[in-house]
Amino acid sequence: MEADNFIEDIIVNDLKVQKVTTVCTRFPPEPNGYLHIGHCKSISINFGISNKFKGICNLRLDDTNPTKEDVEYVDSIKEDIVWLGYKWDAELYASDYFDITYNCAIKLIEKGLAYVCDFSAEQIHATRGTLTDPGLESPFRNRTISENLRLFDEMKNGKYPDGSKVLRAKIDMSSPNINMRDPVIYRILRANHHRTKDKWLIYPMYDFAHPIGDAAEGITHSICTLEFEDHRPLYDWVVNNCDFPDPKPRQIEFARLNIKNTVMSKRYLKKLVDTGFVDGWNDPRMPTICGLRKRGFPPEAIREFCLRVGVAKANSEVDPMLLDFCVRENLNINADRAMVVEHPLKVIIENILEDESFVFSIENNPNLPESGSHTIILRRELYIDSSDFSLAPPPKYHRLVENGLVRLKGGFIIEHKKTELNDDGTPNTLICSYIPNSAQGGINSSMKVKGVIQWVSITDAVDVDLYKYNSLLNDPVNGVLDFNERLNYDSLNITRQAKAEPFVLLGDPNKRFQFMRMAYYIRMPSQALESPKFCLIVSLKDKFNVMH
Ligand code: ATP
Ligand code: MG
Repeated sequence: MEADNFIEDIIVNDLKVQKVTTVCTRFPPEPNGYLHIGHCKSISINFGISNKFKGICNLRLDDTNPTKEDVEYVDSIKEDIVWLGYKWDAELYASDYFDITYNCAIKLIEKGLAYVCDFSAEQIHATRGTLTDPGLESPFRNRTISENLRLFDEMKNGKYPDGSKVLRAKIDMSSPNINMRDPVIYRILRANHHRTKDKWLIYPMYDFAHPIGDAAEGITHSICTLEFEDHRPLYDWVVNNCDFPDPKPRQIEFARLNIKNTVMSKRYLKKLVDTGFVDGWNDPRMPTICGLRKRGFPPEAIREFCLRVGVAKANSEVDPMLLDFCVRENLNINADRAMVVEHPLKVIIENILEDESFVFSIENNPNLPESGSHTIILRRELYIDSSDFSLAPPPKYHRLVENGLVRLKGGFIIEHKKTELNDDGTPNTLICSYIPNSAQGGINSSMKVKGVIQWVSITDAVDVDLYKYNSLLNDPVNGVLDFNERLNYDSLNITRQAKAEPFVLLGDPNKRFQFMRMAYYIRMPSQALESPKFCLIVSLKDKFNVMH
């Protein structure tokens, strides 16, 4: 098997030397918020590896922090992973290992490798030392094993108030790595846990629970982001001293995904939700997976984006236009085309009679012949977009001008005859005529025209509302990076009563379309008496230069 990145290099080698036989990874979200596009990167790596090497990938909900976690988040995480197109092997929780973790703590105490410390959080912090100075040993460091066992048992049984005692690993207060300076591994916390309820009054710290969960579960490669690099010695210390059998899990770090102008911290996203700045976690402006889903981004495009970003060891920032590019590339192949007129201008075709109509067939998607075709009907009165006619055309204007010709997409060529103006001098109605036999295949079809424009006959048109979302953050001005200073208060634009061909209401309720010459849109749910709503997914034009 070929390796595609440095993580796979390690795996290929571990398989070759038979250090491992079945590759086992896990995706370990903390259920304290909804997943975002950054998590997709981790999902893509962990599930991608298990798929590629025919291994196992578990979903491990890292629920060691009972006060911030919620079942709502667990459900959303599962829904999002499934939507992205991945399947986990086992669904597990860090709390499933609370007994094992507790037994490991006992084992460490018995080995003289852990002790109960009565320091407060502040005292522990104050004696931790700095990057240049060693830490100070706690006066409780040399408690006897039996005293530690008794105190830890009393911590567990509720004898002491929250925060009054902790269990610390006994490692090295002068280690150059601060994480190794007798880190706290258990704390007292009276909190109702979403799964274990009131069973526990003590909870393991992440740095202790995580390696134990990995080892107990048989994870071979524990893939995490770079901030955990300095925690790796502690990870290895825990795995080794708790006597787990081989193969022991190996932690490998990669660079987290950062996207320019994109908020990617659950804490901050939660704040946007809680303050009502956005309409929930699934607001189409949110970089959450449920937000991207509502926005209309196809899961395949998100997966492709993660592959294109690649796996790196150094942090960097990705241009959000790369994601747009992947979405556009996907929709270009998969989205049906439809005609919508955003700013309607009425046209009367004087040589079509009131009760006369022409039926044309139009391909649903020229890139996907099997998607079939649908019909559009041309009648005497129709709408075109007001931007497709100009009384004073700028240079290179390839649309309709006075006395000019233009082709109605899928239909006839029309010729402008007369313009009826509003009081302010803007066009109110255009009087045109159609050129007989100018539809595709007709004898006049090869007449030279300036361009092709979309249109909708007035009696067939349905009113739709177009929701256009912009970035939540403005570009930084004068180097101000703070998100709060950069919030975009103008991140939603709505066009009401755009005119659409009826085809846009057919098909599945969340169908994606290319509104020809406009943008890609997805149908959104709407209330009974509301006009149908569509949300802009991405523009048609590519502003991003991708090297293939
Ligand atoms: P946040 O800072 O948004 O709360 P987190 O790292 O605390 O993120 P977790 O739920 O702990 O969120 O993350 C689950 C997994 O996803 C972890 O392995 C984490 O390293 C990974 N992950 C989170 N954010 C990113 C990102 N931006 N790029 C790549 N992986 C990420
Ligand atoms: Mg985390």
